[in-house]
Amino acid sequence: MTLEAFYQKLLNPPKPWNVSKVEISEDGSRVDVWLTHEQYTFLCSECHCPASTYDHMPERVFQHLDTCESKTFLHVRLPRVNCSKHGVKQGVFPLAGQYQDVTYKLEAKCIAVMEACDRTAASEITGVSWERLGGIMNRAVKRGLERRGDIPPLILGLDEKQVFSRHRYFTIVTDPVNHCVYDVITDGRAKKHIEYWFQERKEMLSKVEKATMDMSASYYSLTAEYMPNATICFDHYHVIAIMNKAVDEVRKQAQSEIKDEDARKAFFRSRMTFLYGEENLPEHLRFKFEQAKSVSAATARAWEIKELLRGLWKVTKDESELRVYFKKWYWRATHSRLKPVCDAAKKLKRHLQGIIAAVLHGISNSATEGLNSKIEVVKRSACGYRNKDNFRTAILFHCGKLDLMPTMEG
Ligand SMILES: [Zn+2]
Repeated sequence: MTLEAFYQKLLNPPKPWNVSKVEISEDGSRVDVWLTHEQYTFLCSECHCPASTYDHMPERVFQHLDTCESKTFLHVRLPRVNCSKHGVKQGVFPLAGQYQDVTYKLEAKCIAVMEACDRTAASEITGVSWERLGGIMNRAVKRGLERRGDIPPLILGLDEKQVFSRHRYFTIVTDPVNHCVYDVITDGRAKKHIEYWFQERKEMLSKVEKATMDMSASYYSLTAEYMPNATICFDHYHVIAIMNKAVDEVRKQAQSEIKDEDARKAFFRSRMTFLYGEENLPEHLRFKFEQAKSVSAATARAWEIKELLRGLWKVTKDESELRVYFKKWYWRATHSRLKPVCDAAKKLKRHLQGIIAAVLHGISNSATEGLNSKIEVVKRSACGYRNKDNFRTAILFHCGKLDLMPTMEG
């Protein structure tokens, strides 16, 4: 069997392509394969209608899957066709897209590897450079977003995410039902900076039935304006985050009042234990937690009030009963003589309608929490992403649940 016949069998190129020449480098690390075709009617790359061959472009080289660990490249002179509708256009090449330098098969492999590990490791495994993998990731996300189109999520979540530095934020638009990121707005969280995203999608957003978010005025106002049919919900995650912040403020105040340095340090070391819910506190931290509670009765009280609020999600699904529960809780919180707790309670009361809506509609926080930690992994694995557009692409690639794989059309 000749080398050409061997590669013809191995590659099995679709009609009318045939392997006409194969060259293997001296050290065997590289294989170059030339493909040519017989007389044929190709499809126009614009409309996919058959058209007669007009001429051929200069030779292009596409990297393909390795053969026996040797980098393998396909050399092709792509045909141009004379389409009756579009004039002279490139003909469809079934092995690779017209603006790419890798074949569909290698591209699909790179995507699968990048889904499983970070880009540096993916580059080592696939032999494709870090920069080219970036291009593949970009195309995959663009393709995925185009395929998804503007189908609105049933529930739309708005969440801020701190990136790069303390004062830079992204707005993460989530689809909590499908546990994925719907889009990433890289211009911050202030209404004036991100309103364009909502304006561009006015029609799609009018179909959203429920919207879940934190209690910032910006997200509230954008939702009221662009999602007129959506019930606004403040989910468990964001409500408890406000109370956790209040508990932490009480804890900090108490800490500053401890005179003995060792006692102060010990109290500081147990600060994280106050962020746990009662049932989630790990057994090995319980002693530390009880000790910390005995050091500061005020922090212990703030924590208990936070725990009572969590009860709102457990007691009932009846609106009037929920209001009674909250009223009792509110009285207790506002009579706690703890200013941060009082302030948090007042804030929650102003948003009570949305909190109750979240309980009644069973809006869960697991999606928000899960996605947050997934985004953190993306951030870490890319050493912090200096460029905001690349970071957006990486978030959508890993958390967007998009259909990323190339097909013959690219
Ligand atoms: Zn055409």
